[in-house]
Parts: sequence; structure tokens; C-alpha cells
Amino acid sequence: MIFADAHLHSNPVSGLGIEKIAKRFKSLGGWFMALVSLPPTHYGLQQDRDGYVKAIDITIAECRKARSLGLRVACFAGIHPADLEKLLTRHMADPRKVLELSEYVLREIARRCQEGLLDGIGEIGRPHYTTRPEAFVINELIMNKALTLAKDLNVVVHLHLEQGGIVTVMDINQRVETLRLMKGKIILHHLDYKTAREAVRYGLPFTIPAKYPLLKHAFTHLEPVYMIESDYIDDPKRPGVAAYPWDVIEIQLTLLKEGVVNEEYLYKLNVDNIVTVYGVEPP
Ligand SMILES: [Zn+2]
Repeated sequence: MIFADAHLHSNPVSGLGIEKIAKRFKSLGGWFMALVSLPPTHYGLQQDRDGYVKAIDITIAECRKARSLGLRVACFAGIHPADLEKLLTRHMADPRKVLELSEYVLREIARRCQEGLLDGIGEIGRPHYTTRPEAFVINELIMNKALTLAKDLNVVVHLHLEQGGIVTVMDINQRVETLRLMKGKIILHHLDYKTAREAVRYGLPFTIPAKYPLLKHAFTHLEPVYMIESDYIDDPKRPGVAAYPWDVIEIQLTLLKEGVVNEEYLYKLNVDNIVTVYGVEPP
């Protein structure tokens, strides 16, 4: 059995860093990971142009290291919706300045996609918590810009969204149609069951977090059209906030042993769907 983690982060400044993560993940059967940038502040950087560019380049270096350790990697950089939200609400930044900063960061990301250093844009989207309405609107403006950019660059996008079930999925599906995007490249990340069920209905690719009850329910109720993620944030101060990448493997093996799922189903999630969505070479 081989396993993929379809969305995680690493932090070489204050966390384990990719070397430790990749070695342990690979030793347990991991073959692929989609590695996503963290906000600059996680790396001890400022939330400005320079901080973002450095954060993107830290992510690229981490992806390179993971590849050198024998993993297939899809490398992503974005502007987390919570980042823009914080700039507006906590730092009372001028919305025009926030837009300018975001557009600058997207240009830097696009350039690195063209150079083959990044494989996609993410995560971007909307906050999943209550905040000022403007924080949603500014994120939507940037999300649309990023989606259009991704289409031009022919790259994958990771969307971080509220878990709104049908309304979340309908909204993204409508954007796919009006902006004429490639449906197969827009990944809805970290879905709960009710939103996942709608994503299946609309044919949008998605990931679900590796939690035992959720996986158990998904394995028994959903077609094997999705992928599994740890959403590990590699922050020693918040150890329980998301699963470890090895939990992704552990939980699937447990459910396999319990007879909840079979190997064929798991192969689709961990290999077939990864190869299709991320366009990587199969193992
Ligand atoms: Zn994430």
C-alpha cells in the first residue's frame, strides 16, 4: 500500500521542517505530497511584499528537499484568506493597499509557476469564520484573480472555503462556468461531509481531512473520487490543530483492517486521483 497527503504545510523555521516530515512519511509508505506555503508570519517574516516573497521561496526550497528525499511533490504558494482578513481587521490596513499587495504576490507566484518552480496556487479563498464583510469581498476579488491566473497558467488551485454545503459548491461551480475554468484543476480543500457530498454531485475535485470518524463515513458513503489530506501546519505551539501526515496513513490502515474499506478504494484515493488531478507521474 502506498499513500498520498493531498495538502500539508511544513515549517523549517519553527517546526519539524520537511526533512523530518518527508523521511517519516516515506518510511510508512508515503509517495506523494502537495506542499502548500504558510503565511509569512509563521516563518517569522513580515506580512509585506518582501515577507511573502521569502515565504514563497522557503516553500519552494522545502518542496525541492522533499523531492530529493524520493517523494513526488506538487508545490503550492498562495495568500491565505485569514491573512487578508487579519490585514483588514487587526491591522486596519487600507483595502487598496491590501489589494495591491495581493496582486503583487500573485504576480510573483505566477512567475514561479511559469519557471516550473511552483505547480499551483493555494491556498486562497474565503475565511471559514465570522468576520467583517469586507474581508470576504477582498478575498473573493483575489480568489477570482487567482482562478483566472491559474487558468492562463494551466495550473491547479487549492481553495480554502467556508463549509457551506450546497451553497459553497454551487458558488465555486458557477465561477468555474463564468470564468471558463478547468473544473478538474480547482480543488476544494478540507471539506466536511455535507460539502463533500455536494462536490461529488458537481464533479469538483476535493480533499477531506484525515479524521477517523470522517474517513469512516466517507469510505462507506462516497464514491472514491476524492483525496485525503493531513493539513498539517507544522507548528509546535499548536500540535493538535491538524493531523500529522503519518496519521493519514495510520487511519486508512486501521479502517482497512476493520474491513470498512478495501485496497482498491484506497488505491483510487491515494494514487489514481492524485495522478489525474496533480498530473504527476504514477509511482
Ligand atoms: Zn492548509
